[in-house]
Amino acid sequence: MSAPLVFYRSTVAGPVRTPVDNSPKASGRIVSRLKKAYTRRRGDRSQQIRLAVQLGFSAIAIWVGVQFYMWVRYYEAGGATLKVARPPGVEAWLPIAALMNTKAFLLTGAVPDIHAAGMFMLIAFIAISFIYRKAFCSWICPIGTLSEWLWQFGQAVFGRTFAMPPWLDIPLRSLKYILLALFVYVVVAMPVPEIRAFLASPYGLVADVKMLNFFRLMGQTAAITIAILLVGSIFIKNLWCRVLCPYGALMGIVALVSPTRIRRNADACIDCAKCAVACPSGLPVDTALSIRSAECNACMSCVAVCPASGALDLTIGLKRANGPVPPWALAAGLLIIFLGIVGYAQHAGYWHTHLPEETYFELIPHAEELAHPR
Ligand code: SF4
Ligand code: SF4
Repeated sequence: MSAPLVFYRSTVAGPVRTPVDNSPKASGRIVSRLKKAYTRRRGDRSQQIRLAVQLGFSAIAIWVGVQFYMWVRYYEAGGATLKVARPPGVEAWLPIAALMNTKAFLLTGAVPDIHAAGMFMLIAFIAISFIYRKAFCSWICPIGTLSEWLWQFGQAVFGRTFAMPPWLDIPLRSLKYILLALFVYVVVAMPVPEIRAFLASPYGLVADVKMLNFFRLMGQTAAITIAILLVGSIFIKNLWCRVLCPYGALMGIVALVSPTRIRRNADACIDCAKCAVACPSGLPVDTALSIRSAECNACMSCVAVCPASGALDLTIGLKRANGPVPPWALAAGLLIIFLGIVGYAQHAGYWHTHLPEETYFELIPHAEELAHPR
């Protein structure tokens, strides 16, 4: 067996020796110059595997969007266009209906008739967040993927991104929790019969169509807001996810009790700070022994850049000794959870919302005229 490759890197304490490579200029840390032996970490594929999963889910989201648009057009055109099946996956964009259905399901044990697919996807994403932290945001969510590509584009074109100062970052970050609290309050305050009546109302039945119309028939204010978010996302990492996304806020709260977290082994760490520089959530990965923050989305970017073998890993269980989670295992785990829950819903006949054709012919062309029942 060949001996492991051993490299030397400066650490933060000890007598002065010759400086070595990769000084972490961007971190602003002071690094003294005692050489520390380390074994170079090799063969990380986490970001390639994550990209493959992101591309897969983004392709599904685009396919669902196109099919849903064609389905809506069929009813708007009075049956004159190509008829396609309604893709229940569109209900992933109805988080409030999913929360309402989840509450009704938990209190009654009965699977709802309307928009149940959204509830099953919410349960799958919560389960993923419990087991793998907020991996939903960095591995699955198409908005998270778009946000990441935007700041990577900004970094490639302008050479850098910008971090908000704490006095701005902390209050802005709390906005997503305030939005989540409002939604949760509305759902908690609504009795189950009212939830059922709301979802079975004309407004509730075509809530998905109204969501599509929001983007198709967007007003000036909404368009300007989205344009600001898109441009801002080029310069600030994951702006939407960090500041405004209530779905991500919910996943982050669930992740607080997750047994999975990034752990740093101080003995193997060479204090290069590359992990902290790479972290899109701005977390102090290079100084903490474990990352419990609700902002950690299990993207493994920090692990991917860490040069020292055994210094940084995504681990599951209460102790580091329980072992690192390889990226392929994370990918396989979240796919098994997602496909398992969706597959169960399909197999059990809960996946589709069954409504008569006439209802859709009657409601969809007039979706914009339907007012909120309360
Ligand atoms: S700590 Fe690591 S896994 Fe968590 S968000 Fe930062 S880079 Fe991603
Ligand atoms: S854990 Fe962070 S600071 Fe330590 S060696 Fe790895 S990248 Fe460098």
